Amino acid sequence: MKKHNFSAGPCILPNEVLLKASEAVMDLNGSGLSLVEISHRSKDFVAIMENARALALELLGLEGKGYQALFLQGGASMEFLMAAYNLLEKKAGYINTGTWSDKAIKEAKLFGEVVEVASSKDKNYNYIPKGYAVPKGLDYLHLTSNNTIFGTQFKEFPKTDALLVCDMSSDIFSRVLDFSQFDLIYAGAQKNMGPAGTTLAVVKKDILGKVSRKIPSMLDYQVHISKDSMFNTPPVFAVYTSMLTLEWLKNKGGIAAIEEVNDKKAQLLYSEIDLNPVFQGFAKKEDRSTMNATFNLADQDLKETFESMLQEGGINGLNGHRSVGGYRASMYNALSLESVGVLVDIMSEMERKA
Ligand SMILES: *Cc1c(COP(=O)(O)O)cnc(C)c1O
Repeated sequence: MKKHNFSAGPCILPNEVLLKASEAVMDLNGSGLSLVEISHRSKDFVAIMENARALALELLGLEGKGYQALFLQGGASMEFLMAAYNLLEKKAGYINTGTWSDKAIKEAKLFGEVVEVASSKDKNYNYIPKGYAVPKGLDYLHLTSNNTIFGTQFKEFPKTDALLVCDMSSDIFSRVLDFSQFDLIYAGAQKNMGPAGTTLAVVKKDILGKVSRKIPSMLDYQVHISKDSMFNTPPVFAVYTSMLTLEWLKNKGGIAAIEEVNDKKAQLLYSEIDLNPVFQGFAKKEDRSTMNATFNLADQDLKETFESMLQEGGINGLNGHRSVGGYRASMYNALSLESVGVLVDIMSEMERKA
């Protein structure tokens, strides 16, 4: 039986994407060769890379606006340092909404002064800071649009005259935003786009080349741009599968269409969390993520019952991160409303039993 996969990452991908990707591993487009055994310089793969990059810009509404989409390696964790390597000359600002921002701050400190502009650490990151002033004179301001672990999500982004850099690993392509307000967006593929192994970086070209340090080729966005994201052998399977997911999303009607479904899923689950006395939400209501919902049992004595019901219902990946505890339901683009319905039914069954 196919499970209802609420895993936070690597996570669920559309069935048809998995099917096409596995076919290509055996035989790419009837070529008699596997996707993973052909040259990345072959016509077939160059077309795949071009298509993936073009689809990313198209879906984000960033075509013809001076941006380049790159499929890199090293995960979002590599982008923590690449962003600073390429953009931090003197001083950068970071908004700290938990684990991922914390890690990004640690890397940036290797390259210059880092100002923590705002933080929600005082409440174990259960909210998104608001009402702070962004200092002047920053090279860039960095934020994490969606905190995968704590289940918080920016609904509005700060205004700043500095460059805006955003780690969108866990909510890219999930909701309509004016993506042109960002100068650099990055996202590890394995949350909402594809398998682990590639990272999407969308960078505005004219922000580059301004720092005085020398940058190693592999970490230099300009090098990757000049080589059309093929400076070295790209992770061909991850790029191809990401391309298939982006095609799937485009055929569904793009980000606006998927956002409607994502909102429905989030509403269904959060209203159950709010109405059902057996459960308590973790993140502050106004900052709740539509991608990762964090909650816990009000009474830990019910843990065993709840978890055996989850198992029986075929629910996978609901355990919360160790820094929050409890449960986390990740509802990425490929998760169906029906799967959320199955979880909500189990939760209301718990209320009847309690
Ligand atoms: C998972 C995650 C990361 C880390 O991604 P890797 O690709 O494993 O390096 C960074 N930021 C956010 C918001 C994440 O959810």
